[in-house]
Amino acid sequence: MDIKNLQRENIKTLRPYSTARDEYKGQASVFLDANENSYGSPLPENFNRYPDPLQLDLKDAISKIKGVPIENTFLGNGSDEAIDLLFRAFCNPGKDNVIILPPTYGMYEVSANINDVEIRKVNLLPNFQLDLEGIAEAIDENTKLIFICSPNNPTGNSIVRTDIETVLANFNGLVIIDEAYINFAKQRTFIQELTEYPQLVVLQTFSKAWGLAGLRLGMAFASSIIIDILNKVKAPYNISQSTQDLALAALQNIGQVNEWIKTTVAERELLSKSLLELAMVKKVYPSDANFILAQVDDANATYDALVDRGIIVRNRAKVTLCEGCLRITVGTPAENEILLTALKSLTN
Ligand code: PMP
Repeated sequence: MDIKNLQRENIKTLRPYSTARDEYKGQASVFLDANENSYGSPLPENFNRYPDPLQLDLKDAISKIKGVPIENTFLGNGSDEAIDLLFRAFCNPGKDNVIILPPTYGMYEVSANINDVEIRKVNLLPNFQLDLEGIAEAIDENTKLIFICSPNNPTGNSIVRTDIETVLANFNGLVIIDEAYINFAKQRTFIQELTEYPQLVVLQTFSKAWGLAGLRLGMAFASSIIIDILNKVKAPYNISQSTQDLALAALQNIGQVNEWIKTTVAERELLSKSLLELAMVKKVYPSDANFILAQVDDANATYDALVDRGIIVRNRAKVTLCEGCLRITVGTPAENEILLTALKSLTN
């Protein structure tokens, strides 16, 4: 498969913006090339210089943890940036289409709509796994991207690995596996498979297990051809200096993150069990993520009653295949207790 031929013609011929930092990378004592404020910044730490456009120090630190080379790594302002860039680089508006697998993460559809790209929806099966026949039927010569979210949001389950491999083996466009919740899953990541599949893009994020949703930092791992295309299209300085500094510091605290993952998974199992004991809860779906999808007697009324008590969950009652469901993030033990007490008081 020729990945280069998948990109939009205008991107193929695009001459990307060349930053001052791209044009001169060496050491010097006087930098007068980027129209920065030469005097400093009104903060204890200096932010007067533009950050590294390719975030090489941060990528190097990430590469040591993930085992993925720098040239196979893209960093974005959240994984949402990578999702949007994939549309902008590979999908011709009004001509190409992408396949999404509802119920799933909402930004694939929003990004498609923003970019005027046709969406083909192939619902997951009732067990929330891939409808491989449906996907095969939906693909045509203008299908550029397929988004597979595993573990899936909002259902929480991992997608069967061999099914994902079937899609990878048979589709001639990009397969994006969104692993935002992979740290909470028993299933292995696909980042080790990058050398085998040139059209594979794996998305991960610092917003979930890493506890840095406010920082806005997402990762896309893919063949260097795909990474080069994303780098060409992205805004020149898409990751701020403060984000790069703080993420580098956070990577030193991987021990804390691993502790939280263990605690979250243990709390998830406790919360699932306690929810199931409530009469109002009809079903608790098994979760590989840091949230639980639960079907309750009256999702809208339960949602409203929880809001009245200052507890906010996500009402998914109207979502395909999630009728009557609430999506509940695993909280701290104290927060989970507050939720369970509130739900018990509704049952009585
Ligand atoms: N993918 C999935 C499946 C998500 O659930 C989310 C956030 N809810 C994202 C991506 C977005 O992550 P980020 O904060 O890195 O943009």
